[in-house]
Amino acid sequence: MRSESLQIPNFIDGQFVEPVGRKYLDNIEPATGKPYSQVADSDARDVDLAVAAADKAFVGWSKKPAAERSKILLGIADLIERDLEKLARAESIDTGKPLSLARSLDIPRAASNFRFFATAILHTESEAHITDNVAFNYTLRQPRGIAGLISPWNLPLYLLSWKIAPAIAVGNTSVAKPSELTPMTAYLLCEIACEAGLPNGVLNVVHGTGPNVGGAITAHPKVNTISFTGGTVTGREVAEACAPLFKKVSLELGGKNPNIIFADADLDAAIAGSVRSSFANQGQVCLCGSRVFVERIAYNDFIHRFVDKASKLKLGDPLDEKTEQGAIVNKTQLDKVKFYVDLAQKEGGEIALGGKSPEAINERCRDGYFFPPTIITGLPVSCRTNREEIFGPVVTITPFDSEEEVIGYANDTDYGLASSVWTQNLNRAHRVAEKIHTGTVWVNCWLVRDLRVPFGGMKASGVGREGGTEALHFFTEAKNICIAK
Ligand code: NDP
Repeated sequence: MRSESLQIPNFIDGQFVEPVGRKYLDNIEPATGKPYSQVADSDARDVDLAVAAADKAFVGWSKKPAAERSKILLGIADLIERDLEKLARAESIDTGKPLSLARSLDIPRAASNFRFFATAILHTESEAHITDNVAFNYTLRQPRGIAGLISPWNLPLYLLSWKIAPAIAVGNTSVAKPSELTPMTAYLLCEIACEAGLPNGVLNVVHGTGPNVGGAITAHPKVNTISFTGGTVTGREVAEACAPLFKKVSLELGGKNPNIIFADADLDAAIAGSVRSSFANQGQVCLCGSRVFVERIAYNDFIHRFVDKASKLKLGDPLDEKTEQGAIVNKTQLDKVKFYVDLAQKEGGEIALGGKSPEAINERCRDGYFFPPTIITGLPVSCRTNREEIFGPVVTITPFDSEEEVIGYANDTDYGLASSVWTQNLNRAHRVAEKIHTGTVWVNCWLVRDLRVPFGGMKASGVGREGGTEALHFFTEAKNICIAK
């Protein structure tokens, strides 16, 4: 099927179906600013159908031996790898991200997510607790039922599969909602799920807007588990919808992540790592280090070399093999980026690089949503630009004089998702990592992800942890079985 003419339908009970209301939204290609397909504009009626299908499938799927579920998930992973080029191209067109990034990061990670949880369920252990001569306890972990899985537009298949894979691996069925801005690879994943033999109703995908579809999923009484990744404001709405129904909720939210460079760091590595952590995916990764702090004695040298390296990133048509910086996801997000660049200047910041929309990229991308890597200096630590999540290719750089001072700067934020620390002093690395309030601290690296580790945020960056055992526990109910001796 040619994606250009496609109306993306829902996927319910193993079938591709039109939304009940027969309405569709335009799906815009960010690089061109033009619609290139349409996506189902579903509502609560479609969610009801998806939940009914998931409900019907639950008993059969949850009773299947883990080895059988594992085999099907491994099949999905293999098919994602087989279709790597097709999926990477679809992801690039849908999001505006460079094709090379989708090919090297997004799609391989989606395959890894399925493979990881397919094999994890073969190696689980149960706890046992012996109560002296009184009783013997063991912990039974059972699937919870129907999981509602809601994901954002920045890493569409990567993040959706990060939820689907553990949810269904342990025996739940699911109703998933990708962002209406980037629905294409979720649609392609449903084709793959059919081909891999996933039973009908185990994975259901309902497309549409956040309030209409996401809201219906979080409010549905039969969906007792919600895994949400998105912005902090939406996360609060999700929490409010779930609380009165006592749903189990995981919230992976926004970030304003510090990236700390001490003068004793390997500056070549720190600069290369900081360019990546600042501008990967046009800065639209929740883990991007948007606040860079540099020890004053290395500050001038760092800025000079950092600006130079960032200025060489090739901004261009996402489908061009050489492109390193693609398009911003939509006009709203582009306007938000421009708003913050203006605000930064009003707050006293100076633009060291970027700051203005580029000249036309090429004829095809004349109306696309592009913005160059932008570096801002001279801002106070507590200004709005340094406190609010921009989620674009914009970073600020601030000097610091002492370890204590920079720890204060790093923690002076409502968010607490991730941070990076660059130093060759091992004791300092441990000391600083321990004191920073973020769910992940990378030392001398960025975005190194081992799928076994707990992943999530503190403060306004979220509640709960996903990944590895945490995900297996989140998607199951622990039951204590106590047998008298
Ligand atoms: P949003 O919060 O706008 O949307 C996330 C998802 O929630 C989308 O599918 C959206 O639908 C849906 N949604 C919107 N409103 C509701 C609602 N009332 N009830 C239920 N679902 C709803 O985030 P973005 O898509 O803009 O993504 C960017 C944000 O995600 C950033 O803040 C970023 O930091 C964060 N993020 C966090 C990550 C983490 O792991 N902590 C990872 C990646 C991103 P629709 O898009 O169709 O409106």
